[in-house]
Amino acid sequence: MILRDTQSTATMSRESKANRTQRMRKIVSLLNKAYPDARCMLNRGDPLQLLVATILSAQCTDVRVNIVTAELFKKYHTVSDYAGADLDEFQQEIRSTGFYRNKAKNIIGAATMIIDRFDGKVPDNMEDLLTLPGVARKTANVVLSDAFGKSDGVVVDTHVMRISKRLKFTSRENNQGDKIEKDLLELLPHRQWAIFSHLLIFHGRACCKARKPNCPGCPISHLCPWAGKV
Ligand code: SF4
Repeated sequence: MILRDTQSTATMSRESKANRTQRMRKIVSLLNKAYPDARCMLNRGDPLQLLVATILSAQCTDVRVNIVTAELFKKYHTVSDYAGADLDEFQQEIRSTGFYRNKAKNIIGAATMIIDRFDGKVPDNMEDLLTLPGVARKTANVVLSDAFGKSDGVVVDTHVMRISKRLKFTSRENNQGDKIEKDLLELLPHRQWAIFSHLLIFHGRACCKARKPNCPGCPISHLCPWAGKV
């Protein structure tokens, strides 16, 4: 089914769930071909490093986080290192990632809680991860899928939100991340929950940018209601 014109777009807005699921399947397949290397771009080793990097990545680019963690991970190795960090010093070490006061408080608080409640190990389930300071579903989903290979949901970041809305897979507001995630989970098979967000993040950086999406060069433009209208 090729959907390009106004009529097609109108048809898409009345799209049945079955057709939307089918369109989603085609889009994931095309994006897989376009971005075969799609993966988490945060440099890290163990689950603790991924947790720290993901908390730092809020409102910050992965490139900047990787620059900061390259030094941070040389100094802090264990949860005890983070729990015992000097708050002022730690704030300065992560300052360039933005929101550094909150991030420092959350990372030190999370490390302390991991020691106190989880035997010093980063939890590998959603329920426990969500009890850590600074960890909402987005961060928990990143840690679960990329550190533990467990998919409990879809990571909904700014790229995933924007593109999912343009593709009309959701019509929620940007402050409704959990509901956007729910809409996406209904359209995706479980095995694609983890890769889906990586694909959309790669697509958002390479092609479907916030201000000037490259619709003429987009591999899924024939399946996108917004093609050429942004
Ligand atoms: S056609 Fe344009 S708006 Fe739609 S996904 Fe591609 S780049 Fe984004």
